[in-house]
Amino acid sequence: MYIPISRRDFVQLTGALTVGAMAGGFLSAAEAAASLGSSDGKMQYAGRDLPLLYAADCCVVGGGPSGTAAAINAARHGAKTALIERGTALGVLQTLGLVLPFMPTYAPESDTPYVAENKQKMLDHGINMSDGVTDEGWTNPEILSLLYDGLCAEAGVEVLYHTVLVDTILKDGKIQYCVVQTIAGLAAVTAKVFIDGSGDALLARMAGVPAEKGSDKTGRNQPMSFRFEMGGIDIEKVYQYDTVDLQDTWCKSKPPYVELAEAMGRKQRYKLESFFQRGVEAGELQQEDANYFQAFAIIGKPGTMSMNCPELPHEFSATDPLSYSRAVRCGRQMIHRISQYLIKHMPGFEHAYISREATMLGARESWRIRGKFYMTEDDYHNRSRFPDAVARTAYFIDAHGERVDEKIPKGEFYEIPYRAMITDQVSNLLVAGRCISTSFILQASMRIQPTCMSIGEAAGIAAAWGLKHNTEVNALHWEEIPKEQRSYYTKG
Ligand SMILES: Cc1cc2nc3c(=O)[nH]c(=O)nc-3n(C[C@H](O)[C@H](O)[C@H](O)COP(=O)(O)OP(=O)(O)OC[C@H]3O[C@@H](n4cnc5c(N)ncnc54)[C@H](O)[C@@H]3O)c2cc1C
Repeated sequence: MYIPISRRDFVQLTGALTVGAMAGGFLSAAEAAASLGSSDGKMQYAGRDLPLLYAADCCVVGGGPSGTAAAINAARHGAKTALIERGTALGVLQTLGLVLPFMPTYAPESDTPYVAENKQKMLDHGINMSDGVTDEGWTNPEILSLLYDGLCAEAGVEVLYHTVLVDTILKDGKIQYCVVQTIAGLAAVTAKVFIDGSGDALLARMAGVPAEKGSDKTGRNQPMSFRFEMGGIDIEKVYQYDTVDLQDTWCKSKPPYVELAEAMGRKQRYKLESFFQRGVEAGELQQEDANYFQAFAIIGKPGTMSMNCPELPHEFSATDPLSYSRAVRCGRQMIHRISQYLIKHMPGFEHAYISREATMLGARESWRIRGKFYMTEDDYHNRSRFPDAVARTAYFIDAHGERVDEKIPKGEFYEIPYRAMITDQVSNLLVAGRCISTSFILQASMRIQPTCMSIGEAAGIAAAWGLKHNTEVNALHWEEIPKEQRSYYTKG
């Protein structure tokens, strides 16, 4: 069951016709404070009155794969839900960040209902995600953002685009409201329960939840990438060159599903290494450009490939704002060197051009919370199962640059417990996606999109369930939700 919110209801709710301080959709500070039960009738931030933008049952921060899943599922289960996203498309890393495809979990029957639904909806939109050979889910960024908009509208999620979380206000171990930067200035979003889908555990950290970042050995985050797309490619010719002429066995599928890859320094040897090495020797590429290259054809965009590169040198940090910023400049130079080299030397790229640059760097790993349960690589090796499991995966440990482990044998998997999504410190907070409570190495396995989506789906269901049953989410036991209402339960 869900309750769609019409524009008229929204206006009535936010009191847009009666106030005040800012134009359109805001309550006055006094009304906002009253809605929060403030005793002095004032809601202030940094010494100034703060207008209320939205009052929800459930507020999700971050519209990536996990946050979008959380918001849609919370709303579908009856919670009035707001989704705060700093970008202008949902999926974000999947869409604005140009990260595709959905990687397979390699675990049997791992698709939770929401993941399966997304695949079906893509097909309904004309995108067949399956190449019929591998388990990869080939997406299309423009269709995916359209799809997410539709699912949110249908479920009644109030998506707040171009809205940035800047702070959070707590009372008695509960988040009361988020302070957000909007096009009209600072405002507040209140809710009874909050879900952190920021990827960076930003909301959780602001609320005082302990977090860690980077490798315990080196302190470094996983390397970031600056993805881009190239158009004007003759995909058949590329396939002929790499798969047929070079006899590269990397790409198992056939056009239009074409993938290229090489990664110098990994154990596996790739046919394209010498192609890129020649560029380094000729001074057309720098070694950092050649270390990692991957490209996927984009279904529904003929002649276009999504580049899962350049992979930025490891010294750039996903958790240091200055370093992140400098990485953008470095990455852009790398994009131009790589694309020029491909145009000059790779058969099929003769008429190619850069058609799109991601609007954000791709951070594989940044901060991770320390929640009620901390997952480690032992859970991967022991194929751990949990009574409160919300998802399963067998994706290999892919800590770019640090470690890449062998896959879990076919048919086996480990599970992710609900307790890795909740904390001792904040009773009305759930964390979803790549920043749940895991070690650096375990995160390198659980971070792929379908798994993040399943975790988000569970977060949304749990948030709505907790609200209905008057239970704080950090006291809730996932396994006590009736099986038919859970997105995942252990099937054996
Ligand atoms: C380069 C790269 C390649 C990858 N390749 C693949 C692949 O091929 N297949 C695959 O399945 N997985 C891949 N992954 C992994 C996967 O895409 C991510 O782990 C996944 O997107 C994480 O989802 P998430 O929702 O937890 O976080 P994110 O995708 O990081 O989303 C976080 C969201 O929060 C928003 N946000 C953050 N801070 C704020 C704020 N202050 N205010 C408002 N909004 C905020 C962001 O804009 C973003 O939308 C790749 C990752 C990277 C970086």
